[in-house]
Amino acid sequence: MSLFETSDRAKKYQADLLEFMDSHIYPAEEVYDEQMRASGDPHFQPPIIEELKAEARKRGLWNLFHPHPEWGPGLTNLEYAPLAEIMGRSHIASEACNCNAPDTGNMEVLTLFGTDEHKEKYLKPLLEGTMASAFAMTEPAVASSDATNIELRMERDGDEYLLNGRKWFASNAMHKNCKVLIVMGKTDPTAAPHRQQSMMVVPIDAPGVTVVRNLPVFGYADREGHAEITFENVRVPAKDVLKGEGEGFAISQARLGPGRIHHCMRAIGAAERALELMCRRAQSRVTFGRPVADRSNVQDWIAEARIDIEMIRLLTLKAAHLMDTVGNKEARTEIAAIKVAAPNIALKIIDRAIQVHGGAGVTEDFPLAMMYAHLRTLRLADGPDEVHKRAIARQELRQYRDAATAVVG
Ligand SMILES: Cc1cc2nc3c(=O)[nH]c(=O)nc-3n(C[C@H](O)[C@H](O)[C@H](O)COP(=O)(O)OP(=O)(O)OC[C@H]3O[C@@H](n4cnc5c(N)ncnc54)[C@H](O)[C@@H]3O)c2cc1C
Repeated sequence: MSLFETSDRAKKYQADLLEFMDSHIYPAEEVYDEQMRASGDPHFQPPIIEELKAEARKRGLWNLFHPHPEWGPGLTNLEYAPLAEIMGRSHIASEACNCNAPDTGNMEVLTLFGTDEHKEKYLKPLLEGTMASAFAMTEPAVASSDATNIELRMERDGDEYLLNGRKWFASNAMHKNCKVLIVMGKTDPTAAPHRQQSMMVVPIDAPGVTVVRNLPVFGYADREGHAEITFENVRVPAKDVLKGEGEGFAISQARLGPGRIHHCMRAIGAAERALELMCRRAQSRVTFGRPVADRSNVQDWIAEARIDIEMIRLLTLKAAHLMDTVGNKEARTEIAAIKVAAPNIALKIIDRAIQVHGGAGVTEDFPLAMMYAHLRTLRLADGPDEVHKRAIARQELRQYRDAATAVVG
């Protein structure tokens, strides 16, 4: 029995998802690669993804992330965690089950703060898997890990706002189905630092929006893309401000909590897959008369990987449990901790799995190189390690502030 026991309903989803991975997802990985290669277009939407989506939907493995029963199965974070972990084992599983970032976060924002019109026009097709979306906060001109620096100007002009500025790293904006952006900008530069920002719903084809280029990551042009986008006198109706003027910061906190932990859950799945590949390879390759798996340093790596995975899984489940029971705000230290720990530990395990594979590890014949590139970006995306560590340290130090004053005084 696990410390964080999950429900029978969640266990059924786990069993169904594991079966779907074996029968459909893993066999489709090669087909996916072939279809992508044949298309010659890095942002091609391969038919196999649509086939997998139809199958996942038929099996009820759809929108598993969505916490609101009206829109999804209504699982808790603790119930969803093992499912996200399973999907994290393959780079095509999350999209197949309509559980991929950043659509998941955007759907949650539209559920919580969207108008009826937003829900009809964007949320429904996103939940149907017929539309994709992007989230545009980061800017090339300012250090965006401090979101108070965000500069894109949102100036009120009658019943509209006029948007001017430049964003980058808007993931998913190159996806063939991407139709809408959630954009963070500054509506009132004179307000208190956390009340200056607002978020708006902006169609990607609105006049004045230009997708300038895709940003390859470690040389990989990800299919969903990470786009640089300019906004030149883009007119956005005031009704498309989410939650209200000055609420951008609050929305980003609401959005990033669950999003961050979902990344961590998937990172554990990637680490498990890397460990499995490491073990299989180490047993099948022989050097100097003995399988690589017989070497003590390799056994050390395997043992450490198992220990580390168990540790990050427990911390992830604890964070999920706290989010469910005391709320995202109260769980912020655990969310920050796992956001640092999970990608770093997954990276260490993937790196060692690459080493055990020899040259093959860095090729595209195995998923390890791509997994490494992706996981490395998670030390930056949704906040760099240092910013999360800063938050944890400040929380820790707070306890001793009074004591320090007392000693000095
Ligand atoms: C693959 C990928 C996908 C992304 N997807 C999105 C997306 O969909 N939408 C979006 O808006 N953004 C996205 N981002 C952007 C990401 O969120 C930012 O890169 C991140 O928040 C850091 O902002 P920055 O790049 O401006 O770095 P900066 O703010 O310039 O920071 C640079 C570095 O300074 C250091 N640093 C910062 N603060 C501190 C501190 N207090 N103490 C010590 N060191 C510090 C950190 O090491 C940090 O990496 C994505 C990024 C990547 C790589």
